[in-house]
Amino acid sequence: MEAGIVGLPNVGKSTLFNALTSSVAAQSANYPFCTIEPNEGIVSVPDSRLNRITNFIKPQKVIPSALKLVDIAGIVKGAAEGEGLGNKFLSHIRQVDAIMQVVRCFEDPDVIHVSGQVNPIADIDTIETELVLADMQTLENALGKAQRTARSGDKEAKLRVAVIEKCNAHLETEQPLRTLELTEAEQAAISSYGLMTAKPILYIANVDENDLQGEHELVDKVREHAAKTGASVACVCAKLESEIAELDEEDRAEMLADVGLEEPSLNIIAREAYRTLGLQSFFTAGETEVRAWPVRIGSTAPQAAGVIHSDFERGFIRAEIYQLPELEEYKTEKDIRQAGKLRVEGKTYVMQDGDICHFLFNV
Ligand code: GDP
Repeated sequence: MEAGIVGLPNVGKSTLFNALTSSVAAQSANYPFCTIEPNEGIVSVPDSRLNRITNFIKPQKVIPSALKLVDIAGIVKGAAEGEGLGNKFLSHIRQVDAIMQVVRCFEDPDVIHVSGQVNPIADIDTIETELVLADMQTLENALGKAQRTARSGDKEAKLRVAVIEKCNAHLETEQPLRTLELTEAEQAAISSYGLMTAKPILYIANVDENDLQGEHELVDKVREHAAKTGASVACVCAKLESEIAELDEEDRAEMLADVGLEEPSLNIIAREAYRTLGLQSFFTAGETEVRAWPVRIGSTAPQAAGVIHSDFERGFIRAEIYQLPELEEYKTEKDIRQAGKLRVEGKTYVMQDGDICHFLFNV
C-alpha cells in the first residue's frame, strides 16, 4: 500500500517529503522487502500503544508500522511544471492507493506562488479538474470495448457499460468519483481502470508558523471542501517540521513545548495517511520484538498473518488474540490465558484494530 504526494510547485512538497522520510532512514534496514528509489520513502507510523505494550513485555526492539510514500511531483518535475500535468504524472497517480495533496496555506513573500496568490481551493481545483478529465478519457476509451462485448450478451460487460455511463454522468458534474456511491459489484466492474478521482485523498494544509492549529480561514475552506468531497485534512508547517525532525530527542521536546505542540505534526500526518489508505494495525509482541503491522480494515486473520509471511497465511490454523486492556489488567500473557481471556479465532475472524496476536500455522 502506498500513498503519493502531489501538489502545485512551491507548496512545500519536497520539504514535507524529506521531513517525513528522513527521520526513519536509520530504521529502513527493518524493511528489506522495499527497494527504495530516490523519490520513494518509508514513513513510520508512531503509535502510543507500542509503548503501552512494552510496559509489560520487554522486547529487544520495537518496530512501528510503516507506509510507503512516493513523491510523484519529484519524479516528474518538468512534466508537472509549466506545461500542465503530463501523462507521466497521471500514470504515477494511477499506481498509488491514496493521494496526499499538499496545499499552500502559508503566506511568505519570499516564496513565489505559481498563480500569484495563496488560494488552496484554486490549487485543489486545478489538480482535481485534470484528474476528472483524465478519468473521463479513461472511461471513454473503455466504453467502446465494453459496449462491443456487451452486444454479444456478456452480462459482466453489460454491467460495466452501465457503470461507466453512471461514472461519466457524475464526472460531467465536475465531481470526483469518490463521492459517487457504487455497490461492490459496480466497483469491481471498473476496478481495473485505476480511476484517480475514486482514490481516497488527504489534503495536507501547509500552514504558517504562527498558525500551527490551522485557524486561518483558508484552512477552514480546505476543511469545508474536504467534507463535501469525501476527503480528509491534516495541518502541518512543513518548514518548522523539517527543523524539528533534525533535532535530537531532548531538543525536540523543548522545541515542541516552545511552539505548543504535543507531538510533531508529522506523526499526525503519518497516521492520517495510514487511515486514508484504509489501514489499521495489529501487533505481535514477544521478547525479541514488539511490532505493529499494517492490515487493511476488514481483513481476516489469515490475511493479517499473510502480512507477516505468506507461509503464515497458507498454513494458517488459528490465531490467539488479546487486546491492550487485557494486558494492562492481567500483566502477562500467561495470566491472560489462565484467566480464560485469550481468544482463539479461526479463518473467518475479522481483525480488529489493536489486536495482539499469535498465529499458529503449519506448512
Ligand atoms: P515544492 O515545490 O512543493 O516541493 O516546494 P518546496 O518544498 O521546495 O518549498 C518551496 C519553498 O517554500 C522553499 O523555499 C521552502 O523552504 C518554502 N516552504 C516550504 N514549506 C514552508 C512553510 O511551511 N512555511 C514557509 N514560510 N515556507 C515554506
